Amino acid sequence: MTHPITHWINGRSRAGTSSRSGEVYNPATGEVTAHVALASADEVDHAVAAAVEAFAPWQRVSIAKRSAILFRFRELLDTHADELASIIVSEHGKVHSDALGEIARGLEVVDLACGIPQLLKGDFSEQASTGIDVYSFRQALGPVAVISPFNFPAMVPLWFFPIAIAAGNTVVLKPSEKDPSAAYFLAGLWHRAGLPDGVFNVVHGDRVAVDRLLEHPDIAAVSFVGSTPVARHVYETGTRHGKRVQALGGAKNHMLVLPDADLDLAADAAVSAGFGAAGERCMAISVLVAVDPAGDDLVSRIRERMARIPVGPGNARESEMGPLITAAHRDKVASYLEAGLCDGATLAVDGREHPLTGADRDVGFWLGPTLFDNVAPGMRVYDDEIFGPMLCVVRVGSYDEGLALINANPYGNGTAIFTNDGGAARRFRSEVQVGMVGVNVPIPVPVAYHSFGGWKASLFGDTHAYGEEGVKFFTRNKAVTERWPDHSHRGLNLGFPTHA
Ligand code: NAD
Repeated sequence: MTHPITHWINGRSRAGTSSRSGEVYNPATGEVTAHVALASADEVDHAVAAAVEAFAPWQRVSIAKRSAILFRFRELLDTHADELASIIVSEHGKVHSDALGEIARGLEVVDLACGIPQLLKGDFSEQASTGIDVYSFRQALGPVAVISPFNFPAMVPLWFFPIAIAAGNTVVLKPSEKDPSAAYFLAGLWHRAGLPDGVFNVVHGDRVAVDRLLEHPDIAAVSFVGSTPVARHVYETGTRHGKRVQALGGAKNHMLVLPDADLDLAADAAVSAGFGAAGERCMAISVLVAVDPAGDDLVSRIRERMARIPVGPGNARESEMGPLITAAHRDKVASYLEAGLCDGATLAVDGREHPLTGADRDVGFWLGPTLFDNVAPGMRVYDDEIFGPMLCVVRVGSYDEGLALINANPYGNGTAIFTNDGGAARRFRSEVQVGMVGVNVPIPVPVAYHSFGGWKASLFGDTHAYGEEGVKFFTRNKAVTERWPDHSHRGLNLGFPTHA
């Protein structure tokens, strides 16, 4: 039995009217569990109209009341984290503890947004000129769109909408059609927290819905996260239609291991960051750059750890890695096994042979962890973002060679260095052309009060997600020059205003 997944517009559930729908799977069993409505342009317009109507009254709600609703939402999200995690596991496939982890990281952003009174405090200059005060403050933009990918169905939307809403905007969220239920669940929590109808709307859909949001004259800004080709399209189309856009794209994250590093720590980190969430993380490590003579030792420690990864359904307590999101994605990732061999890489661990616990390889979307050694640029396993449980090892002769490799890569999302040499680490953090850097930390996702964002083909636009940059993205500055007249101001003066 499948169930329908509906939109959430103006404070209530709305069945789709477009007659188009998408299948939602349980990736562990391969079963279709639900059909999600795919919005037409008209349905998107309907959601945007609700967001437009809600905007003016919501912007007028006092900051104190807005932050009180945020606090209530925070409590509800915390209380229902386990339920939400189960929803994520059932549609995404990641293991339950990992789903709880993404909710915890999303909650951090809600915590930040609860402090909106402090974040929106403006600047004031008394007596900037005689009898004149100048002050500036930030105001909401209007209805904004958030478009999110499948791999973090709760955390990525939570990077954006708590701050957007706290700052006085209204939101239309278009989540991934592959695992849409988390977004709908979050809408229900907002409702229970007392958010007025129309401030937060969820429209399900595919590119039809995205393209309508990008063109819609009433959408003021777009926050997008997904693959690089779509991020580029979103940035170009959205900005062409006069919107503020931040579009976070794909990644190929390198971990540089110097020979002086603690190789056990490095091997643990590479395996955890490479295969957690089956490699379906934008901050996953997908390339290990081993500086001579660390390579052989590191590869053997990694192989030994990979053999011990329990792969099975996300809702089984013992599983640490689940299936991939769809059969098509699993097949695409698996096709890189042939591509790697064909291009001359050494297949050190074949994920197709990895044992499964409590799962049937023939029905779910399974592929075990794979390791390629002796990889080089020009090979498809190096050049492409694979977004699956496949780690590539590139051997280099020196730190400089490793750094040059990383800096030549078109992506610049995350990177890490593993070393005990503080000087080398210091050089790396300064010289590497990547937006988020870990020093002996493999997945350097910044905490909520710093901002998240890559460089180069990993982000289009100027502004990173959450933190102070997030507040800036969802607000615009207004500067007021103010004088309260007294007798000294009488008389005409057609000259340009100066301090004289
Ligand atoms: P995707 O680009 O296929 O989809 C992202 C969103 O765009 C979805 O809502 C989807 O419905 C929509 N979409 C898909 N194709 C479209 C098209 N042609 N036109 C308009 N909209 C379209 O990405 P995905 O497969 O859901 O997610 C995985 C990708 O996201 C990976 O590339 C990963 O690196 C990236 N990602 C990046 C970050 C980051 O912070 N940089 C975070 C998470 C995921």
